Amino acid sequence: MKTPLHIRAVQARAVAAPMKRPLATSTGKLTEAALLLLDLHTEEGVVGRSYLFGIGKHNLAPIAKLVEAMAGMLKDDALVPFEIEKKLRARYTLLGVHNIVLFAMAGIDMAAWDALGQALTIREVDAGSCNGCELEIHAVNNPYYNLEGLGIRFVASPRHADMLLVTGPVTRNMALALRRTYDATPAPKLVVAVGDCGCNGGIFGEGYASCGRVSNVIPVDVTVPGCPPPPLAILRGILAALRRSRGDPATDA
Ligand code: SF4
Repeated sequence: MKTPLHIRAVQARAVAAPMKRPLATSTGKLTEAALLLLDLHTEEGVVGRSYLFGIGKHNLAPIAKLVEAMAGMLKDDALVPFEIEKKLRARYTLLGVHNIVLFAMAGIDMAAWDALGQALTIREVDAGSCNGCELEIHAVNNPYYNLEGLGIRFVASPRHADMLLVTGPVTRNMALALRRTYDATPAPKLVVAVGDCGCNGGIFGEGYASCGRVSNVIPVDVTVPGCPPPPLAILRGILAALRRSRGDPATDA
């Protein structure tokens, strides 16, 4: 499988989650679930998450250390679950791939698949551009950028979209259509304004025929300046909006 994602780090932390109904065990009643939460960070900003269920919070500490040691071995590797498993199995042959090693590997494997499954659907809206920005957006769809490998694809309806990619100064004729498109997009939704026109009105500004910047009409999460911005800048803007939605503070486009 081809993937443009590369592993940066895996963070593991043990938490105790209260259970609504205590679990009866041979050693008594469990009132808390001991979980090991795993966040697999990629260089490209996509994060995969998983969790492991343990007997007690303290028992999970050595597994957390093992997970992070394994992640150190995988740093900068392509995010390909089968290759990850092969590499870890080869590394742990002497110890025997069982018990806590298998447990830790399962957590990384689930987080890897989660990162690959982070789909994002985009509806592009030309709110009045000269079409220069659209040419660059077409170029982002070139196989070179491997959007589908990142789980990103363009859709025809805002009802199927997670994100609106808006170009142009918003013409008065398009203002209502843009607002209706925004309302039709299910929450939580993201908006990326592309090009100088979308960011600040560009060479057209505000006037009798133009509302100017996109944020004059709908809320905008990330702006991508440039006239027109190149494909990589547009891709960076899309990923920055994604990171912001996932709580990563590094959200510059
Ligand atoms: S930013 Fe430049 S290329 Fe994009 S719509 Fe405006 S004038 Fe055209």
